[in-house]
Amino acid sequence: MAKKMFNKVAFIGMGLIASSMARCMNKLGMADKIVTSVRSDETRKISLDLGLVSEAFTDLDKAILGADLIIIAVPLGSYDSVFKKISINLDKNTIITDVGSVKQATVAMAEKYLSSTEMFVPGHPIAGTEHSGPNAGFSELFKGRWTILTPTASTNPDSLKKVEAMWTLMGATVDTMTPEHHDMVLSITSHLPHLIAFTIVGTATDLEDDLRQEVIKYSASGFRDFTRIAASDPVMWRDIFLSNKEATLSLLQRFSEDLMAMQRAIRQGDGDSLEKLFARTRKIRRGIIDAKQA
Ligand code: NAP
Repeated sequence: MAKKMFNKVAFIGMGLIASSMARCMNKLGMADKIVTSVRSDETRKISLDLGLVSEAFTDLDKAILGADLIIIAVPLGSYDSVFKKISINLDKNTIITDVGSVKQATVAMAEKYLSSTEMFVPGHPIAGTEHSGPNAGFSELFKGRWTILTPTASTNPDSLKKVEAMWTLMGATVDTMTPEHHDMVLSITSHLPHLIAFTIVGTATDLEDDLRQEVIKYSASGFRDFTRIAASDPVMWRDIFLSNKEATLSLLQRFSEDLMAMQRAIRQGDGDSLEKLFARTRKIRRGIIDAKQA
């Protein structure tokens, strides 16, 4: 059944997240027209071949012309140039939202380039895989997942409601919080785990050749789960750490201190402390399964 919400939706970028949204929007009939602006001709062609959009451009101006919703879905490192271009011919009634993984830097960018941030609704779907590009998307990606919206003091309440309704239609549950709180929460739930995975897999890669083969052979003993996380897009993760520097560094400091405490417990044969910690962490895993986020 058609659930039309928009006349024309313009995606900036057509990777994993945008193509999943486009698939879902097409399936539900959420817009009369869905178009995209991308960087490469290859992605432009794939977007059209897959039927994700009816028009695809490498010229951003053409894509946003007449759109009532613009969705920015590029790596954070491209935000500066994208906001700059959008701001030139922006219709004041167009809602702008995004899906970027860091929100304070996003809001700062919007404030730098947009004459008014009233129509800007910063967002972040807490859903994804280690794959990238338009072929990697699927329409069910957001089903049962959270999307966090981080409106600012100037965000128009009606625009916020509309973006919230859009995510709800796509199957997500929406939460709102400040950009600062978002970045702190995500630094512990997403950024630090990725940093640890990149480091562990990097350490294993640096091992001698023979040992490296055994690391792969016996990876099911724990290493495999880290490799999935560490296979995430290098550009996207480079940009996330550079955009959320303060929160990441402060958390990394705390993590290093906890790691030292573990080191001390092992050195001193303090089994009680180890067991207590592991029992506590096991409970967290059960909580995640109960919350259906596993
Ligand atoms: P992706 O699969 O790597 O796709 C990125 C897309 O952006 C590609 O279509 C690329 O075009 C395009 N692009 C890059 N720079 C551009 C520019 N200057 N102008 C126009 N298009 C440009 O990315 P993704 O995983 O969907 O991530 C997109 C955003 O979602 C990021 O900000 C990320 O932080 C956020 N996010 C990601 C996940 C996740 O798990 N992946 C989850 C939540 C949020 P070409 O193909 O032509 O180069």
